[in-house]
Amino acid sequence: METPRYSIVIPVYNEEETFPDLVKRLHEVLDLLDGPAEVVLVDDGSKDSSYQLMLQANQADPRFKVLQLSRNFGHQVAITAGMDAATGQAVIIMDADLQDPPQVILEMAAKWQEGYEVVNAVRQHREGETRFKKASASLYYKLLRRMAEVDQPVDVGDFRLVDRKALDAFLSMRESNRYVRGMFSWIGFRQAAVPYTRASRHAGASKYPLRKMIGLAANGMLGFSTAPLRFAIGAGLIMAVASVGYGLLAIALKLAGLPYVPGYASLLVTITFLSGVQLMVIGMVGQYVARVYDEAKGRPLYLVREAKGFGSHDEPRSDGSRSQVNGGNGQRAHRERIPGMPSA
Ligand code: UDP
Ligand code: MG
Repeated sequence: METPRYSIVIPVYNEEETFPDLVKRLHEVLDLLDGPAEVVLVDDGSKDSSYQLMLQANQADPRFKVLQLSRNFGHQVAITAGMDAATGQAVIIMDADLQDPPQVILEMAAKWQEGYEVVNAVRQHREGETRFKKASASLYYKLLRRMAEVDQPVDVGDFRLVDRKALDAFLSMRESNRYVRGMFSWIGFRQAAVPYTRASRHAGASKYPLRKMIGLAANGMLGFSTAPLRFAIGAGLIMAVASVGYGLLAIALKLAGLPYVPGYASLLVTITFLSGVQLMVIGMVGQYVARVYDEAKGRPLYLVREAKGFGSHDEPRSDGSRSQVNGGNGQRAHRERIPGMPSA
């Protein structure tokens, strides 16, 4: 098969209800693109029949390639696995639930042809999302924009098109706590935006429960900002100054001969308040330390159980390492791919 110009990467986690319609909608777009295309379906440890449906899609049309991870690694890692495996000159990342309308890909491809290397789809409207989700998302992005060291565009999720050059830069970043949208703003390159209306989920329920949402938000904050640490220093300073002030006040009252009987309650409140603040700050510092620990382990980002449709890479090696379809932490796979990097 000729090498594709376009790769469409789709993470799939228990999406059997939407999958048949997804394939249908993709076919319409694949035929309209101005060059050969492949679809890289990443099964992120689905427990329903998604994987069987994906294999059927591969059987019916070899442009559909399937990568099955060994377990659920989460959305951000699943899309990284798909991008690792993609071979196109332009790689598009989109969700499986048709919230990202496939037709937008055509507009993104047009921007790419104008010379942009990262084309972000920007949500104009969100359909069918709860008020809580919209409000919390808006607050979160405002906060992140204030704190983060790189400028994060608003209303940009993971629906985007990336040129090969920018993609290789992105893939050289093998950090294990991934906040993909932030990493794409970090790499720079020529970026463009395409507005779109985020549809409501086609079928099934969201695979992003609040717990995963908070995890993603934490990765965004901690991965792109050390502002929480500076905040701890500031809070500590304010409290130290305040306590000195309080001590001076007590001495002044004593010298002036005024009655000063510090109550039991104020003591207890001060002690418990400060202990609480200290524990909180230790926990926050611990979050950064935990991330250092994760990086130090240097585990592969993901493991592939089975790959279908990638030609010679199809058979996973018994040691779990793969030449291209590989979740390595960059020590091996990406030294070979990034020009100018010393080989191990
Ligand atoms: N997904 C995944 N692994 C997960 C959770 C989600 O691959 O652990 C996929 C899911 O199948 C979908 C995309 O990521 O294609 C976005 O998930 P979802 O639509 O549930 O998130 P939401 O749109 O509700 O934020
Ligand atoms: Mg969704």
